[in-house]
Order: sequence, then C-alpha cells, then structure tokens
Amino acid sequence: MTFTTRFAPSPTGPLHLGHAYSALLAFDLAQKAGGRFLLRIEDTDTARSTPAFEQQIYDDLQWLGLSWEEPVLRQSQNANAYDAALARLAQMGLVFPCACTRGDIRRAASAPQEGAPLHGPDGVIYPGTCRHRRWQDRTETDALRLDMAAAVTRLDRMPDYVETGVVPTQPITEHHLRTEIGDVVLARRDTGMAAYHLSVVVDDAAQGITDVVRGADLAPATPIHVVLQVLLGLPTPIYHHHRLIRDDTGKRLAKRDDARAIATYRAEGASPDDIRRLVGL
Ligand code: GLU
Repeated sequence: MTFTTRFAPSPTGPLHLGHAYSALLAFDLAQKAGGRFLLRIEDTDTARSTPAFEQQIYDDLQWLGLSWEEPVLRQSQNANAYDAALARLAQMGLVFPCACTRGDIRRAASAPQEGAPLHGPDGVIYPGTCRHRRWQDRTETDALRLDMAAAVTRLDRMPDYVETGVVPTQPITEHHLRTEIGDVVLARRDTGMAAYHLSVVVDDAAQGITDVVRGADLAPATPIHVVLQVLLGLPTPIYHHHRLIRDDTGKRLAKRDDARAIATYRAEGASPDDIRRLVGL
C-alpha cells in the first residue's frame, strides 16, 4: 500500500508554527516513503470557517514549499458521505438525538449525586440525559450522539491501533470508552453538519489515508476514531502523533496566537527554512 498521509487544517484562523510543523512533517514523511501527501480542508464548522482563512492556508503552505494532489477535499461539500455513515450507525441502533445545551450538560453532570464532572476529549462527559430518545424522533435542531455503551456491545473485541509517534499507546478498554469518553457528538446541533469525529473517519478512509500525522493533542480522540472505523467497516490507519510546538511559557500554540502566525513571520521577512529551523526540522 502506498504511504498516504494528509494535512487537515480547519480554516477558522491563521496557520501558526504548530500547523507548519504538522504539515512539513507529514510532507517530509510522504516524500521519504515515496508516498502521497493530501490536503483536506476541515470546514464543517461553518460559523467559524471563512474563505479568507482557507485562501491563507493555500498561500502559506505553498510558500513553505509544499505541494499536494488536486482536487482538495473540502468537508463542507462532502455532507452526503457523512450522512450515509450516520444512517448506517443509526440503523445499527447506535445514534440518538440530543437537545441538551452545553449548560444543560454541565448542570446534569455536576448534580450533587454525580460528584465532580468528568472530562473527556470533547469536554464534560455526556451524562446521558437524552439517551432514551429514539433516532426516529429526532428534530432539525437536535444534535446526534453515538450511544457508546451500545456501540461497545457491537465490537467483537476491543480494537487496537499502531502508534508511531511520541504518544505511548494505551490499550482501548470498555471502561475507558464508556466512562472517560462517552456519547460523543456525531452531528452538530447548530448546523446539522457532521462533527469532527465522524467526518475525519469517513474522509481518512475515502482518501485512502494509510498514516495519519497530527498533533499529540488529538491522541485522546483516537480511540473514538478507531471504534467508528470498526463499526463502519473501515480500515484503521497507522497513527503518528507528533510533539506540540509551544510558546516561550510552555503553552501550546492556539489559533488566536497571531504572533506565531506563519503570515506574521512571512511579513517580517522570514524564509521557509527559518520556519523549519524554528520548529526543529
Ligand atoms: N482539523 C483538525 C485541526 O485543525 C485536525 C484533524 C486531524 O488531523 O485529524 O485541528
């Protein structure tokens, strides 16, 4: 199988040094393996994604010396594929509609009998308020969630995956899935668009990604992706979670951190090689 990897930014802010590291590392690994490097625009968050940020991604990556195969997959144009995957999970009885707001979830999860709310990869673990609701009764304004306890019963055995990056692999356990991850969102309440966990799994498979190269911050979400791959009958790629680029105070860079935006370095006269040096490549 040809080594195939991707860089999958969301156009919700300027690319910063952390993105540059991720994209350059994925590109270099593909070159070294004589493989393929793809770019995917993860713009399912339609409220925060903008055409200007998307254009800036193309400009910055080109400037860095990267090239990728065309056409670029834009998730906002791929809703049918996510709907099909969602319908398949729903037919298996694994999806329920949920009308809870963030506030509802926080309040239910911190009710006195619950103790301190537990946090998972997506924030507070869903306390199960709407889990009794049926998929058939969903409304336009509901989010759609995976019933993780039901999903676990559909697995023949606990799945695993290969990690080649900096994050030690933890075996996936039923306890972890049920109590430390829980009923993750598959489609959003606000827009009805597929949520990250579903779209990333569908697209990695559709694009034939053999090796996912991404930041260590996404390692905790990987068990969710692997479970969805097994449920949907999709292959599990190899995961390479890389170290994170931090600022001088040790904090992980965020989209808001304009000071470390690639565009800022460009404007100040830095070269692509300067960027490589700055991120330790
Ligand atoms: N779109 C995600 C981000 O910008 C990356 C998803 C991934 O690489 O799996 O953080």
